Amino acid sequence: MGNASTSVSSATPPPNLRPALVNGQPCWLDCPSWCSEDHVAASVRFIEDVSHSSPAVDLLVPREAGVAQLLLSARLVSDDAGPLLAVEVGDPTDVYGPAVSADVLADRLVAFAEQVRELGLAAGIR
Ligand SMILES: [Zn+2]
Repeated sequence: MGNASTSVSSATPPPNLRPALVNGQPCWLDCPSWCSEDHVAASVRFIEDVSHSSPAVDLLVPREAGVAQLLLSARLVSDDAGPLLAVEVGDPTDVYGPAVSADVLADRLVAFAEQVRELGLAAGIR
């Protein structure tokens, strides 16, 4: 019986408690392991308004004079509905300058795809 109790408790992940401000009151939130949100700085009025987010992974392409341009950005977000993958599209115009070779773009697309796959694995969404 002691063994069964031990295996049940080890199956439950430990809480990832992070400080937060809700309606001006300090409290602790059980965040997903991938959450990097500063819940103190992003204080909310109601606990139902808390949302979690991961760091973004960006697909940057080089432009003239070494300037990088954001093409795509992906991150995990979560609210009551559970984790979701949010993808934002940068300015899609004028990214095909002479500084962008097919090899560079292909390599960055592959690297971005792997980062998106890792985000999904971290949240259990594949
Ligand atoms: Zn969080």
